[in-house]
Amino acid sequence: MSSPKIWRQRIERYRLLGQKCKGCGKVYFPKRLVCPECGGRDFGEESMPETGKIVTYTTVYVGPKFMENDTPYVVAIIEFANGVRVTTQVVDVSPEEVSAGKEVKFVFRKLKDEGKTGVIVYGYKAQLV
Ligand SMILES: [Zn+2]
Repeated sequence: MSSPKIWRQRIERYRLLGQKCKGCGKVYFPKRLVCPECGGRDFGEESMPETGKIVTYTTVYVGPKFMENDTPYVVAIIEFANGVRVTTQVVDVSPEEVSAGKEVKFVFRKLKDEGKTGVIVYGYKAQLV
């Protein structure tokens, strides 16, 4: 299989999919089992916007072992255009370039290498736009 095809399939599998509570309409990402607002357990799927803004951030100088080659790196709270907030790494920047209010888009990146098992975990990170 060609690598562009694998790449496209991964994007599909890991697309930014949240959920919307059918009881009160609140949107969650990542998904939850029970709505903290109304206690509802009935959710519909909700696609998340691909962009957001940095609310606040911090620079990590000593990270977990699997991140040790990436330090220092920036972890930020990002607010999606629909108001939902997530915490994720901001990639491809030096900490001085990051500030609150800057716009980011979500990019698909390797999160973690499982070492011995060879499993690579992918997910979304943020990149300045
Ligand atoms: Zn609810």
